[in-house]
Amino acid sequence: MDLSPDGIRLICTTLIISNYVFETYLDLRQYLRLKDQRQTGISPVVKKYLEQHRRKKPEDSDELKDENTTEENKEKTTTDDNETHKKTLSYNIASKKLGFITGAIDVVQELLIFRFNFLYLMWEFSSNVILSQWLGVSNAKDYEITISILVTILGYLFGLLFSVPTSLYRTFVLEEEFGFNKSTLKLWVTDLIKSTMLGAVIGLPILSLMIYIIKNYAGPHMHIYVWASLFFLSIFMIAIYPDYIATLFNKFNPLPDGELKDKIEDLARKVEFPLKGIYVMDGSTRSAHSNAYFTGFFGLKRIVLFDTIEKQMTTDEIVAILAHEIGHWRYNHITKSLVIEQIYSFLMWYMVNTFIHSPVVYQAYGFKNQRPALVGITAIMTLYSPVNQLISFSRNWLSRKHEYEADFYASSTLNKKDLAPALVAIHRENLSDMDPDPLYSTLKYSHPTLLERLRAIETATKSQ
Ligand SMILES: [Zn+2]
Repeated sequence: MDLSPDGIRLICTTLIISNYVFETYLDLRQYLRLKDQRQTGISPVVKKYLEQHRRKKPEDSDELKDENTTEENKEKTTTDDNETHKKTLSYNIASKKLGFITGAIDVVQELLIFRFNFLYLMWEFSSNVILSQWLGVSNAKDYEITISILVTILGYLFGLLFSVPTSLYRTFVLEEEFGFNKSTLKLWVTDLIKSTMLGAVIGLPILSLMIYIIKNYAGPHMHIYVWASLFFLSIFMIAIYPDYIATLFNKFNPLPDGELKDKIEDLARKVEFPLKGIYVMDGSTRSAHSNAYFTGFFGLKRIVLFDTIEKQMTTDEIVAILAHEIGHWRYNHITKSLVIEQIYSFLMWYMVNTFIHSPVVYQAYGFKNQRPALVGITAIMTLYSPVNQLISFSRNWLSRKHEYEADFYASSTLNKKDLAPALVAIHRENLSDMDPDPLYSTLKYSHPTLLERLRAIETATKSQ
């Protein structure tokens, strides 16, 4: 490489700033769209779909049986729609405002770290002060893995200074204001401690292994060794996640016998879904947001329902949501995504192996004679960030394609009428924006918007 350290610094700074400007531009578009919608009110298209897929909760249909109150009810639901719409917009606007602040904090933090050679300072501090002075290690510089672990821990603690205030604000002010937060300060702190410990127990050994491979197996095939080790570790993590990691944060109880269980089991039998069990997760201890998913990579699968979902949907709607999840299984979406992720990962490590031995990369970060692998990876990741951005857009595109396929499976193959109202219900309850800025949603959404999904379902069921 012919670049000078200053050239690399300039490229990195430009990349950090232009990435921030682009992200902020997208956010601003969406923010203005939300503001605009708040002025103009609910759009006729959204209104049409909301009316068409009015949720049919048991208590609602009882009310509707009474002929005399039908008109009154219709008026009531229209005001309801308007109220929900207003609340949705206010929630999303408040969320975006907070996003502007966290985005600015992040970019300033990133630029400061870069400008003041923060990585180098932390490296020197870990090596000369912590290891040499405090722990009395004589040849501290030789312990690259230990120093890398210390630098990672210091960097994490430094990041907490910025992320804790905004995270507290998000949970206890923003989410609280809109009735989503069910967490307590005690639970929040325990969660933070648990996730930090978990990150340390899993992340630090992986980091050590990577540095070990980079240092001891440097050569034309180094990226293959790193990639292969990470691949087996990720399979291992997916395998142990449901039993050993998810259970650290939530309780999973088997779904009690009843109509819902019978219907889910019927559905699984009908499509030969290898169902191992249905569990209810205590999502409501933290948040009123709702969801459903299945876990299990090979062989038998478990279905997990958030306890909040049962209060927000009818039995048939929940079954429709699960039919969608089963669609993901039927079309092998999880395996497909995994294969693609592995291709990305391989390419990234190939990039790392190409540049990790250039001294100029380390000089740009303030290192004159040393070439710590951790610093090399950090530098190359920053240089690689535009590619990463493109990968993230294409990842979202693929994910949306999978969502359409799963919706198609659920609404045309299995369940003709319940998916649309179920989606409406889940969006209403989660105050999700139904009709966002097109460029924003195209680049950033992993799921199609509600309007797009309803339209696709309409076409799928019509063509039946
Ligand atoms: Zn899905």
